[in-house]
Amino acid sequence: MPVNLAIIGAGMAGLSAGRELRRRHPNLSITVYEKSRGVGGRVATRRRDGFVFDHGAQVIKAQDADIDRLLHAELPSEGLRRITQPVYIFYADGTIAEGDPTLNAEPSWFYASGLTQLAKLLAAGLNVQREVRIASLRREEGTDRWMLFDAHGAHVGTADAVLLTPPAPQTAEILALSDFDPVLRDTLVRELIHVPYRRCLTLTLAYDRPIERPFYALINVDRQHPIAWLAREQTKGTERCPPGHSLLIAQMAGHFSLQQWDTPADELAAAVIEMAGMLLGEDLSRPMWYDRQGWRYALPDGIARSELLNSTGTGLFFAGDYTVGLGRIHLAIKSGQEVAAAIEAWLKR
Ligand SMILES: Cc1cc2nc3c(=O)[nH]c(=O)nc-3n(C[C@H](O)[C@H](O)[C@H](O)COP(=O)(O)OP(=O)(O)OC[C@H]3O[C@@H](n4cnc5c(N)ncnc54)[C@H](O)[C@@H]3O)c2cc1C
Repeated sequence: MPVNLAIIGAGMAGLSAGRELRRRHPNLSITVYEKSRGVGGRVATRRRDGFVFDHGAQVIKAQDADIDRLLHAELPSEGLRRITQPVYIFYADGTIAEGDPTLNAEPSWFYASGLTQLAKLLAAGLNVQREVRIASLRREEGTDRWMLFDAHGAHVGTADAVLLTPPAPQTAEILALSDFDPVLRDTLVRELIHVPYRRCLTLTLAYDRPIERPFYALINVDRQHPIAWLAREQTKGTERCPPGHSLLIAQMAGHFSLQQWDTPADELAAAVIEMAGMLLGEDLSRPMWYDRQGWRYALPDGIARSELLNSTGTGLFFAGDYTVGLGRIHLAIKSGQEVAAAIEAWLKR
C-alpha cells in the first residue's frame, strides 16, 4: 500500500524535509499544505516598481558543509550571489564601527531574483497545495491514519504521517484543536506553547537617489536601539534596484516591534525614517514609497525538544527553527533534513 505523508508549511523546514524524503523515497506520496499563496514562509521576496526586496530573511550563511553543498552543487546555483560588502555594527547612541572581520569573512549568500528562489528550488517536484490552512487533525476511525481539516472544517486529505512545521505557537494551536490521545496532545502542546518568539516590524524604503556607504548593513550589537538591522538592499545588484536608486530595509527590534505593532503605517514609517536618517547622518524624508511588513513570529527565543516531539510513535513529526532554538535559514533546512531521517526510520518500522 502506498504511504502518504502530509507536510504542513512550505517554509525552509517543510520544503527541505519534503525534498529529502522525495529524493530517498521516490514512491512516497507527499503533499505539502501551505496557507499562503507562495512558498518560503519567513523567506519572502516582494516586488514593487522595478525594485525586488527580501523583507523577511536577508541572507543565508553556509559555513556548514551540507548547506554549502546543497546551495552550490545539489540545487541549480544560477543567480546565487555572495554579499561583497561588510556588515558594520552600531550602538544605542548611534555610534557606528567596523564589524568583526572574522564574521565578515564568512560568506553570506542571496539569489539575484530574491531569496524565495531557494524555496522554489527546494519545492521543485513537490505537490504543494497553496492557500490551504490546516486547522486541525483527527485520527481516521478504525485506522492509524491522520485526517487533515482546513479552517472551514473541510476534510482536505488523509495521511499515514504528518510533519508540522509552522512556528511553535501556531503548531500548538493546530494540535490543541485536534482530536487524538488527550494525554499525548497536552504533552506536545505544553512543549510547544512555551517557546517565546520575537516580533519584527520590517520597513522597506525606496529612494530615487543613491545612498552610498562602505557597508552592506548595520547591526545593533547592544540590542538597545529600536532598529535591529538596517540594510542597503541595492548592494544585492541591479536586478534589485534601478541604477541611481536606493532601497533600505529596517528591521525593528523585538521591544520596539511589540510596542508599535498597531501604530498606523504612516506614523510608523515617519518614526523609522527619522531614526534611520539619524543613524546614517542623512535626510531620509520623502522616500518614493515605503512598505510595512509585520512578522508576529519572527525569531524563536527558546527551544522545544525535538527528541520529545519526534518520538511519539504516532506518525506525527515536527520541524522548524524553534527545534534548534535560533532563527536561521540554514538551521531550519537542517531541522527539515533531520526530521526526514526520523520519518524514514519510522517508515521502516
Ligand atoms: C525579519 C526576519 C529576518 C530574518 N533574517 C534572517 C537572515 O538574514 N538569515 C537567516 O538565516 N535567517 C533569518 N531569519 C530567520 C529565518 O527566516 C527563519 O529561521 C526560517 O526561515 C524559518 O523557517 P521555518 O520553515 O522553520 O518556518 P517558516 O518560514 O515560518 O515556515 C512555516 C510555514 O508554515 C506555513 N503555515 C503556518 N501555519 C500553517 C497552517 N495552519 N497551515 C498551512 N501552512 C501553515 C507558513 O505560512 C510558512 O510558510 C529572519 C526571519 C525574519 C522574520
